[in-house]
This record gives sequence, C-alpha cells and structure tokens, in this order.
Amino acid sequence: MNTPHTAPRRPLSTLEPGGEFIPRHIGPSVAEQAQMLAALGFDSMESFINSVVPAGIRSGAPLALNPPRSEAQTLAELRQIAAKNKIFRSFLGMGYSDTHTPTVILRNVLENPAWYTAYTPYQPEISQGRLEALLNFQTMIMGLTGMEIANASLLDEATAAAEAMTLCRRVSKAKGKTFFVSQDCHPQTIDVVRTRAAPFGLEVVVGHHQSDLDALDCFGVLLQYPASSGEIHDYAETIAKAHGKGALAVVAADLLALTLLKPPGEFDADVVVGSAQRFGVPLGYGGPHAAFFATRDRFKRDMPGRLVGVSVDAKGNKALRLALQTREQHIRREKATSNICTAQALLAIMASLYACYHGPRGLTAIAERVHGFTVTLAEGIKKLGYELTTSAFFDTFTVKTGAQTAALHAAARDHQMNLRAASADTIGIALDETTTRAEVEALWAVFAKAGAAAPDFAALEPSAPGRIPANLARTSAFLTHPVFNTYHSETEMLRYLRFLADRDLALDRCMIPLGSCTMKLNATTEMIPITWPEFANLHPFAPSDQAQGYAELFAALEKMLVACTGYDAVSLQPNAGSQGEYAGMMAIRAYHANRGEGGRNVCLIPASAHGTNPATAQMAGMQVVVVACDQNGNVDLNDFKAKAEKHSANLAAIMITYPSTHGVFEETVRDICDVIHAHGGQVYIDGANMNALVGLCQPGQFGGDVSHLNLHKTFCIPHGGGGPGVGPIGVKAHLAPFLPGHCIGFDNHLSTGAVAAAPWGSAGILPISWVYITLMGGEGLKQATEVAILNANYIAHRLAPHYPILYTGVNGRVAHECIIDLRALKDRSGVTVDDVAKRLIDFGFHAPTMSFPVPGTLMIEPTESEPKSELDRFCDAMIRIREEIHAIESGHMPGADNPLKNAPHTALELAGEWGHPYSREQAVFPVESLRTVKYFSPVGRVDNVYGDRHLVCACPPVSAYEDHSDDAGA
Ligand SMILES: *Cc1c(COP(=O)(O)O)cnc(C)c1O
Repeated sequence: MNTPHTAPRRPLSTLEPGGEFIPRHIGPSVAEQAQMLAALGFDSMESFINSVVPAGIRSGAPLALNPPRSEAQTLAELRQIAAKNKIFRSFLGMGYSDTHTPTVILRNVLENPAWYTAYTPYQPEISQGRLEALLNFQTMIMGLTGMEIANASLLDEATAAAEAMTLCRRVSKAKGKTFFVSQDCHPQTIDVVRTRAAPFGLEVVVGHHQSDLDALDCFGVLLQYPASSGEIHDYAETIAKAHGKGALAVVAADLLALTLLKPPGEFDADVVVGSAQRFGVPLGYGGPHAAFFATRDRFKRDMPGRLVGVSVDAKGNKALRLALQTREQHIRREKATSNICTAQALLAIMASLYACYHGPRGLTAIAERVHGFTVTLAEGIKKLGYELTTSAFFDTFTVKTGAQTAALHAAARDHQMNLRAASADTIGIALDETTTRAEVEALWAVFAKAGAAAPDFAALEPSAPGRIPANLARTSAFLTHPVFNTYHSETEMLRYLRFLADRDLALDRCMIPLGSCTMKLNATTEMIPITWPEFANLHPFAPSDQAQGYAELFAALEKMLVACTGYDAVSLQPNAGSQGEYAGMMAIRAYHANRGEGGRNVCLIPASAHGTNPATAQMAGMQVVVVACDQNGNVDLNDFKAKAEKHSANLAAIMITYPSTHGVFEETVRDICDVIHAHGGQVYIDGANMNALVGLCQPGQFGGDVSHLNLHKTFCIPHGGGGPGVGPIGVKAHLAPFLPGHCIGFDNHLSTGAVAAAPWGSAGILPISWVYITLMGGEGLKQATEVAILNANYIAHRLAPHYPILYTGVNGRVAHECIIDLRALKDRSGVTVDDVAKRLIDFGFHAPTMSFPVPGTLMIEPTESEPKSELDRFCDAMIRIREEIHAIESGHMPGADNPLKNAPHTALELAGEWGHPYSREQAVFPVESLRTVKYFSPVGRVDNVYGDRHLVCACPPVSAYEDHSDDAGA
C-alpha cells in the first residue's frame, strides 16, 4: 500500500516491538485520567499527588531502575537468564520430588486466570468452585493420612511442622518445654522448627527416636515417615512412649508413600504434616507448594490455617464456606493459633485435582511403579558391590560409598544427575514419578566401578523384593468418594474444571475492590515464565552452579526492591506477608539480643493493624501493647507517646502500616519513627500498602528499619484464591546480618535460622515480579502508584454524596483505598455491610473488604489496573444500592424482605413462586448492562452459624449431592 503518512517523531526502528506495556497495565487512558483529575478539581497529576502525599515523606529522586521494556524484549531477556539454569535430574529427595503436572491441570488451572486471579474465598457465594477444590484437598489429606480433620493448606512442610509444634504446646498436658525431633527428619524442617522454638523459650532436642526419647521430659515429638534417609520406621512404640509422657506425636509424611503405607492415623499420630508438592506441582526451585496439616477432631479449634466447611444457603441448599474463623489472626489477633493469612490455595487445588484425575487406583499405580524402580535400582547397586544402609524403604535409600563418595558425585554430575550427599561417606538416592528405566540404568552406570558390567534390568526387575514391611503396608481404602473416582478422562476433567471455575468470580470477570489486598492486573507476560522448565523444574537443593539463572534473577530482583523501598538489603525467603513479618521481627529480636538488650520485648501495634501483625509479634516472643487511633484514623499521638515512654526500657519495636490501613497518609509518620528510635526501639513498617508508595516515597527513607512487601499485592503475583504469595523483607544495613539463613542454602551467621523450607522460599514465582518491574521501569511504577491513588480518590469522590467516607487526610483526600461507613445506615435501615456485599454480587461484583479495619465499614481499593468504565460501573452499582437502602429507610420496602436482605439472588429462584415485594427484574437486572453480562452465584446467602455448629470438613456423602440436583456436578 502506498498510504501517505506523516513522518514519525522518532524512527520507527527505535520503538520497542509489541509496543509499550505501561498503558496495558494502567486501566484509565491519559484522557480519562485528565477527566478524573478534573472531577477532583486538579489540572495535573503532579498537583493532585502533591496535595495527597505529605511533602515530608516524598523521595526526591526518581526510582533507580532501568527504563521500561516491551513485553517481547523482556521475555527475550528473561529467556537468556533462564538459560543459565541447568536442569539436571535431581535424585535428592528431602521432601521435593519431580512430578508430571497433568497438562489438563497445567493449562486449565495453573495457567488459567479464572483460577489464579481469584481471591481468598471469604465471600463464599462467589467462591464455590475453589471452595469445592479445597474441600477435596482436605478430604484427600484426611484419607491418605488416616486423620479426622485436615486444613486447606499451609505454606511448606517445615513451617507446617513448626505449627504442629506450637499446637502440641497448646494442647499437651506435659509440663516440659522440650520438643523432641528425630534426627532423621529433613534438615530444613529441623532448621525452621529451631527458629520457631527459640522465641517461645522452647528447647529442641534432636536425636534418635528409639534411643534418645526415654529420658526426656517433652511435650511433643516430630518423626518423619518415611524418614529423610528413606528408612520406613515403625513408630508405634515411639508414639506410645510419647503418649505415656503426656506428649503428642507429629508425623511428617509423604503423600505418595501413604498410598502404600499404613497411614499415621492408624498408629495413633496426633498431627500429620507434609508437602503436597509431588501431587503434580512443579519443583520451582523450592516453591510455591502446598503443605498439609491434619489432626484429631478434638484439636480442630487449635489448628492453624484455613478450613473449608460444609454449610447451607438461605434456601437450605448445600453451600461451602471457610469454617471456624475465630481461630485465625484476622479475628483472634495475638491469641490466634497462627499468623498465617495467605497460604497456598492454588497449589493445594492443583494437588487435589491431581488426585481427582488419577484417582486412588492411579495414585497407587504411580506409587507402585516408583517403588518398583527403587527396589530394582537398589538390587542393582548391591550387585555392583555396595551396601545399603536403608532396609525398609519406599522411593529413597542410602548407600555406603566410603572413599568413593566424591568420585561418585562427580560421575553423577557428568551424567547430569544430582545425588544427595547424605553424609561424608554415604549417598542418598530418591526416585519419583518421572523416573524411567533408562535413568535407573544410568544410575547403575555411575555406580559401576571401572570395567564392571552394569546389571541387567530385565533380569533384576522380576526378582527384586519389595521393601515395604508387611506390618506397615496399607490395608485401608482411601479416596473412595466419587469426586476421586469420576474425572479420569480428559474430557470429564476439563468439564469439571470449567464447572468449578464458572462458579467463581475472579479478576478475569470484574474488579475485586478489596482494600488492603491490592487485586491488580496479573499480566499474562508476567505469568508466562513460571512454567518454563528452566524455572519450574529445578530442585531447591540442586548445586548452586546449576542455578546461575536463578541467582542472577534474585540479585536483580533484590536490587529492584532495594530501589523501591530505600532499604539496604533484601531477603526473598519468606513465602507470605505473615512470614516476612516474622522474619523481620526475628531480625529485630536478634539485633537487640546481639547488643546485649535481649530484654526488649514490647511491641507497640496500632489498633488498626492487620491481624497478622499482633499474631506475628507474639510468635517472635513479644508482648503486644495496643496503641489507640484517633477519630481521624491516625495513630493517637498522645497515647502512642505515653506508651513508648512507659515501656521505654523494654521497647523492642513498633509495627505500623503505611499508608495506614485506614487508607490515609499520616503526616506524622516520621515523628513516630523518631520517638521509637529515641526509646531504643526499631520500626517495622508493614509494606502491604506499598502500592500507594512505589516511586513516590520509600519506607527505608522516612524512618523504617524493616518492612515486608507483599509481592502478591504490589508486585503482581496473583492471589491464586488464597495463595501463593511472597513476602520478602527489606532492612536497613544494621539489620542485614540478622536476615534469615538456611542450613542448606546459605549461612547468615548472626541469623536465627530459616523461616521457610526452601532457601529462596517461593522462588518459582519470583519471575513474575521481575517481569513486572522490568516492563514498567521506574517511570511506569510511579505512574501506577499515582493512578492507584487517583482511582481511589475518584471512587471516594463519586460515592461521598451517598455514603460517608470514614477517614481522609488533612487535605480531605484518601490514599490508594477508601473506607465507606455504613454504621449510621444500619441504625436507620437495618442494612448491614454483609447485605451490601452480597447485593454487589447481583451487580456482578466481588465485595470490598468488610469490617476491616473498622467494623461496619467497607474498604475499597480499586488499584491502577481498573479502567474508568469499571470504576463507574462499580460506583453506579453502589449508588443504586444506596437507593434501595433509601426505599427501606423510607418504609417503601419492608426491612426483612428486600433486594439487599435476600441477596445474592440465584438463577434457581427465578423459576416458580416469587413472593417478594420487588420484581424479579429488580432482583437480578437492577441495571441495564446486566442483561448482556450476568453472573449468577450458584448458591444463595451462606449460613455461617449453621456451618460452625454442624462442622463438616470433608466431601459430603453422595446422598447429600443427590438431595440437591443443582449441585450434582459436571
Ligand atoms: C495482606 C496483608 C498482610 C499479610 O500478608 P499475607 O501475605 O496475607 O500473609 C499483612 N498486613 C497487611 C496490611 C495486609 O494487607
């Protein structure tokens, strides 16, 4: 074509291929931003931001980051980094096994935004799909472990073991402060348990479960099954002994092995923990993977983590929801059973679906195959003249290798294989689902001494004896529920996945305006690399020379986060915000102790803090002192100063959130930091609200000593329906020596040890944040923050005539979120935050955050990714709802039977009788646009009280499904 065109401003060749990413990430166009600014009375973004963000905390310089890159170029650069990782075959075991992720699950769950962009299922009506998958997970864990109740995932096996220790401490009648840990537990588990024990003054004794327990006065024991060496011990006697002392027994177990082994519930274990990684979740150089936690029914109220329960909806139909929430940090705060918030929902969902896809017979076949290869391999190695030090085993054994140990490791490396250095003169070998005959033969070749003929596989296989002791073989059935026995063809699985996903609202359908949670775009380009084999298939304990790509990525990301926060050093190990808080508070604790001020144990926490803050401070051995907030939502300075003064001698720290959870930029934050420092304390700034700061201010510059960041909020890692997350911490230089170490990864000599099982926590998803920052550059990140603040203020501006905005800064503006106050409306109309939240579902929206940080309010955070049209659609819905509330206030609509109280309305209700004083149209199409796009929640309002009173935490029997034909499934 010869279309004439005007000359471009710069040569076309200098434009990035694929175009700029920034306007893809930021919702409102430049013109729309101008419209919104004008509505707020500003003529430029600069003057707007100047009026909102206090000058005293602004950083002068632009972010020290590279200019933005295009999506194509960023992925090309990352490919080069990824190529520096070498994917050897790792036979290292230690709780991590290679696995085949069924591709139907890979593509339709892990790579599907309907699953990965969902939020934690606190709004059960729009979460029935993921709740069902998580209930399946609980049922699967209960079945395999033989326990009475299981939660819906913890962060990793090591922290799950540490949580089990504290459960033992809470429920055991034994007086002792000692926790016994078998020396044949995975080393990283021992490391994390030691870290967690210290602040509680608990002593960890590591020893042999048979010989070292007798003389001990302990409240709990931790055993590994099969043990880290591979040995399958019969623990019945040890557990009886522990019970005799009043101690509880925790068994860390391998899920695949449990298909063939007697489950711990059948030999009287009190708690069973472990990792569900090998059920189809990629290694990812250490995570994210779901851990499980199962226990006795009578300990359910002491259990950590989320629990899915079966309840009923307003019409009496089966409906799922999160149960027993009064155990958790967001309600119980420093008295919670754990500080865990974000867990590993997406990975738990994948593992449960892996079990659905394979079913009990498929899983058993996989386990038998692995065991068969392992015994054949072992026989061959014996034939080659070696002695095994393991006698009963499933997929792992240890070989005496003596003087040849180093040479054997080297030979294995030559074949691109990693063997476990079990000790100076033994080698461990662990097989897994992906093992092939060729690999077994390659291993023999490594062990064959020069000139020796390798064993003959075909000859050995039939004669190799099974190594599972008869008295420990599994005899009980498991996974008998239809959900594990139906979806074995790909067609059925595909439709089941679609059926579940369709029941849920996620970011791929609508704005999720959850204050404090920052539900922003998780761009596809950011997600692409996580399933590249170079990132997905590395074992966390592979030698570091095979992980040079990861090392480069970590270093670059740490540098980026330093630039964003103004801190000096970063640890990427914590695998959730709560764990970052823990690592940060432990660094503060170690810092004080190192200076001879170990007595400092008071932590001030404003009343508005997120529940994880007090729960964490308690776990770090601190005494929580609550500081009041004033009527403007700011820290009450008088109360604060009085408490800092009063506890001066013992003051360890303050934990504050900035901007505060009240959604305002407090002018006084620098003064608060100064007062704490003057009293010898340290300042922990909860960085969950960094989406209001990046590019404008740095917590490390306005007084913070340490902060965690939620990479799954500000830096685009998706929430996955309740995890994964990454909660790295940034620290000033004086705290850097106290960042987490790791017994296998690296040593940080002053640190109190590891806070996560893997040295770099959830390494496998760190590429997401690296890609985001690379795409945006300093300029893009700053723009994102500005638009996040603009979007929140635009919503506040549109809603203010209809609902009171609870808090604003001195300038009358909010930060990146705003709280609307419904308490007065409730007094006048009886309408609660719940009613508004549920009515929003009828309009096709996920509710804002309810009753946090102030009961009776809604906290709205739109983020920069939402376009103006979606903000307006949301405001229109809220205004429409306000009119519906008016009708109740003015007596035009009865207080007990109205669109709010009956929300959400299901499709089922449209058929048959309609006895309400408003029309079906008003119920389900209150605004015109819903006639084109309509989401129906699959259940009506869920009854929370009923669910806790009649607690059921496993898949209901089939008859329950037959009762409710709408729930019959795919
Ligand atoms: C989300 C959040 C946390 C906890 O982070 P998780 O990753 O869920 O553990 C802590 N503080 C605040 C203010 C938060 O919003």
